[in-house]
Amino acid sequence: MSDNVYTDEIEEVTTESTEGNSSDQKETKEYEKFCALCHRPESVAGKMIELPTKMYVCQDCMQKGFDMMNKGGFDYSQLMNMPGVQILNMSDFENMMPKQQQIKKKQPDEKREPVFDIHNIPAPHKIKAQLDEYVVGQEYAKKAISVAVYNHYKRVALDPTDEIEIEKSNMLMIGPTGSGKTYLVKTLARLLDVPLAITDATSLTEAGYIGDDIESVVSKLLAAADNDVDRAEQGIIFIDEIDKIAKKRNTSQRDVSGESVQQGMLKLLEGAEVEVPVGANSKNAMVPLTTINTKNILFICGGAFPDLEQIIKERLTKKSSIGFIADLKDKYDNEKDLISKVEVEDLRSFGMIPEFLGRLPIVFTLKGLDEDMLVKILREPKNAILKQYQKLLELDEVKLTFEDEALHAIAQKAMKKDTGARALRAIIEEFMLDIMYEIPKDDSIGEVTITKAYIEGTGGPIITLRGQDRLTCH
Ligand code: ADP
Repeated sequence: MSDNVYTDEIEEVTTESTEGNSSDQKETKEYEKFCALCHRPESVAGKMIELPTKMYVCQDCMQKGFDMMNKGGFDYSQLMNMPGVQILNMSDFENMMPKQQQIKKKQPDEKREPVFDIHNIPAPHKIKAQLDEYVVGQEYAKKAISVAVYNHYKRVALDPTDEIEIEKSNMLMIGPTGSGKTYLVKTLARLLDVPLAITDATSLTEAGYIGDDIESVVSKLLAAADNDVDRAEQGIIFIDEIDKIAKKRNTSQRDVSGESVQQGMLKLLEGAEVEVPVGANSKNAMVPLTTINTKNILFICGGAFPDLEQIIKERLTKKSSIGFIADLKDKYDNEKDLISKVEVEDLRSFGMIPEFLGRLPIVFTLKGLDEDMLVKILREPKNAILKQYQKLLELDEVKLTFEDEALHAIAQKAMKKDTGARALRAIIEEFMLDIMYEIPKDDSIGEVTITKAYIEGTGGPIITLRGQDRLTCH
């Protein structure tokens, strides 16, 4: 079936190229011309000049050729008189060059209707309701991000001449690894249909040092927006692992990947004109540059901030141990969710510089996931892992069910790995490998039930044949 589709496509192309003018037009729509000398496509190098034998040269290369001839003062008519030299005959190239110097353009992706229109942004509760369908728990974080995004895009839509300028709502998300920080931002960008660039703060260094310079995040965003500057200017940049660029304590060396990266990011966070290369991630002589204003780009920073709890605990204990009703020293030792009591001064003690924190006015935390939440993550989101496997087996007309206890056993295993929900997929994949391998072999299987025993390695899944009783595999 798929073979047919392929050959059809080829046939279409070849018949097109042998047909006359009207098909030529169709062809030029689908194919791009390439310069024979510099190899750049027409979309980059500009209009091509067609030479005989369907060879193309861009205007830059053509001009360079003329310049060289003029400068050199070479008399080409002499060439013919030299022994053994023949004048260049373009038709000789015909056999050397590929028939058509063109590559097939990518088909544009089908445009999906965005859930929200950023020019007419819905109320925060509606944004949160959509997030609820994908992100389990994290109620406070979802609420905070919905309000921030609502305000941000309202601000973007505001007339720039208005007297009151609303401050940018850049955010700082604090939460343990695997608690859904990246997932939350990704979901949001998808719902809003805005371009999103995700980058890791650890890879950033001050301009001029080895590593990505800070402005490279903006060129990533431009790429995510298909080089559309207007779209990029309303996008989201997510900088993960922001805690890794905390100021290093007790160091005499120049801190090129910590404090100075924070310093370097200040202008970007606030709004600056940045010159970025188009279609490449480094500036060099060959690539064109464009200017992007980061004023309306929403920056979201995320990090796990290990040891922050300790800093918060120290602050709280210090405060409460002064005065008559001094608390016990270990009062906060067993406090759950201490991280949500974070204040700017804690982040400063952690090593974030005040100017940087000042440009991230919205700070909120995500909770570590517990067993029940992990089970919900397995089962409930719109694109939950279980639903994905069920869909895959449904295509083979096999019903896949998971016993409740099995899901809890998976969640317990994931908890042990201490990487939040990130561990879930790896664990399930390990168990599902055999199932996905064996089940399609046997057409008579109608249902598979994953049991706790199977997850714990003490038994097998329950297999039910079509129209028959259950069997337990071992
Ligand atoms: P991090 O906080 O380290 O950025 P991620 O967002 O990358 O964590 O989470 C890893 C994966 O775990 C996500 O791709 C998502 O599938 C799942 N996940 C994590 N938290 C949640 C959640 N609250 N609801 C639904 N899925 C989640």
